[in-house]
Amino acid sequence: MISWWRRRFQRRVEPDAQAFARTIEVLPSLALLDIEAHQRLRDYTGRFLADKHFAGAHGLEVDGAMRTTIAQLACWPVLNLGYHWLSGWREVIVYPGAFRARRAHDDEDTGVVHEWDEDLAGESWDNGPLILSWQDLCLDLSEPDDLQNVVVHEIAHKLDARSGGADGAPPLPRSIDGRHWAQVFRAAYDHLCAQVDRDDHQAAIDPYAASAPEEFFAVVSEYHFLAPQLLAAAYPDVARLTAQFYAGGRLAVADARAGAPPPPRGPPRG
Ligand SMILES: [Zn+2]
Repeated sequence: MISWWRRRFQRRVEPDAQAFARTIEVLPSLALLDIEAHQRLRDYTGRFLADKHFAGAHGLEVDGAMRTTIAQLACWPVLNLGYHWLSGWREVIVYPGAFRARRAHDDEDTGVVHEWDEDLAGESWDNGPLILSWQDLCLDLSEPDDLQNVVVHEIAHKLDARSGGADGAPPLPRSIDGRHWAQVFRAAYDHLCAQVDRDDHQAAIDPYAASAPEEFFAVVSEYHFLAPQLLAAAYPDVARLTAQFYAGGRLAVADARAGAPPPPRGPPRG
């Protein structure tokens, strides 16, 4: 009976096998996962394909291979957290390339509202759609050494927002002290902001992380999944807490090999 209910309510769509294998092939850190983790990733990917509604923008047709790639990358961050971390939203909107978003900022001192347009590679709305540029996602996969992954980045925002708004602190497991998390992340963020203020090229990680605390968490998440050793070299305490968070609260020891981060590229990920 229990297994019937489980099958009934955990609908799956079989992922595109070639696309699934190709993503693992091009991302060295994804290839490092063991067989059990790959099996879980395949299972989560199938559930994502059944749960979410994909829509192409500007006439883009989102085929089965594209859906699988997006679903697989979206499920990677929650592999040890649990699939339920991806609940509460349904739409995945895919643009052929970078898309334009209207921005507004209300200046509290002057009362003036500033508006401008921004070209984005990705965006995620709290309880709303995940929006991606397919071209940028492909670039992330063809150039993994750039340490960018727009899907991981936007999913990090989704996880962060589950604590009641994206502010750089997702809901934390009991094994992580919230005040300690806030202190460690604040100190690292302030350090990066000071570096970026002096010179972008001196930044320990992608300077885009200095745009806001929530962007810091999203960029740090990309480093955690793509090159944890670089994050550990730049911000060891942040690397340790991030690893612990994505391990679902179980202690994970970050690899501390040093390395130099590559220069940033492309439009903001939103
Ligand atoms: Zn972002």
